[in-house]
Formats: sequence, C-alpha cells, structure tokens
Amino acid sequence: MNIWIGKITLLVGTAAVIVIRAPHGRRNAKLKVVQSERGKLEIALLTLMWFVGIVLPIVWVATPLFSFADYPLYPAPYCSGVVLFLLGLWLFYRAHADLATNWSYSLDIRENHTLITTGVYRRIRHPMYASIFLLAIGQALFVSNWIVGPIYLCGFALLFVLRVGREERMMLQRFGSDYETYMEHSKRLIPGIW
Ligand code: SAH
Repeated sequence: MNIWIGKITLLVGTAAVIVIRAPHGRRNAKLKVVQSERGKLEIALLTLMWFVGIVLPIVWVATPLFSFADYPLYPAPYCSGVVLFLLGLWLFYRAHADLATNWSYSLDIRENHTLITTGVYRRIRHPMYASIFLLAIGQALFVSNWIVGPIYLCGFALLFVLRVGREERMMLQRFGSDYETYMEHSKRLIPGIW
C-alpha cells in the first residue's frame, strides 16, 4: 500500500481527535479551577504529548526528515490499526461526553466538580486514557515509520504511568469514601481485569 494512505489516515484521525475535544476545551476554560496538581512534571508531560502527538506527525507527513525510518505499509496492520483507532475515537467521544464540565487537560478540580461513575466510567476509572491507548496503538499500526509510528504510544504510556497514581490520590482527597467505593467497584483501564 502507498505510505500516503497512512499519512492521510493520520491527518484525518488527528483532526477528528481535535474536533471531539475542542468544544469541551472551550467550555471548560471558562470554569473556575479550585484545586490543581499542575506542577512542573505535568507541564513537561503535556509538552511531550504535544510534541509527539502534533509536531512529529506533521514533520513526518510534510517533510522527508524521518523517511529513512519508513517501512512498507501492508493491508492487515493498516486495517487493524484503523479499527482500533475508530474504537478509540468512539470511547474518546463518550468519555468527554460523560465527564463534561469535570474534564481538563491536566489534574484539576473545578468549582462544582462532581464524581462521575456512570456511562463509560461505570466499569473503569480511566476510559479516556483507555481510549488514548487505543488511538496510540492504532496509530502505531498504520503509521509505517519505526520512529513516528510508536512514539505517541511510548509518550502516552509515560504520561499514564507518571500521572494515574497522582490523579487517583487527588480524587481520593477530594471525594473521600465516595471514590474509595468507586475504586472497589471499578478497574483502572480494562473492564473486569485491571
Ligand atoms: N482519568 C480519567 C479522566 C482524564 S481527564 C479518564 O481517563 O477517563 C483528567 C481530569 O478528570 C482530572 O482533572 C480529574 O479531576 C478528572 N476526573 C478523573 N476521573 C473523574 C471522575 N470519575 N469524575 C469526575 N472527574 C474525574
């Protein structure tokens, strides 16, 4: 398959992610933050995500800088990648819809923050992170480049590992026994497993 099919899929997929998130970002920017764990680590992680999620893909699509690491694109990985990415988009959309005014880019508690335990939050505590893992694995399969393909997955795995414990501690501090009960009835990422 022509490598440009992977490039166009990446552009369309990234645009879809931005379109799903944009209205939530615009609306929530107006809501007051009453507690935040946005330290230096969070800023570094968000910058890393911006770099691996936006800058490197644009460089790969628009310049020959990474072409030395390109490899041929085959239908089976391409199609499985697209299926995983579409599944990820659906979950990403649902997680934003369920979290609504409680969502933010980083670790923030907003005024009138409520604990969401329904919808896609019923069985797992981090459906948005699960959706980003699906998007990243999908991307690694249809971006036929040894660097740009897996780099978003590596970057996000690092963000997840360095953030999830702090996020759960922040939620426990804010919601106490309600979050404890929620933890007892849910898993982190994979329903019924972990
Ligand atoms: N980790 C979640 C949410 C990511 S967005 C997921 O993967 O789906 C990060 C913000 O969501 C944090 O600032 C936190 O305040 C908020 N948050 C996380 N879980 C929440 C929940 N169950 N209810 C309400 N807000 C939540």
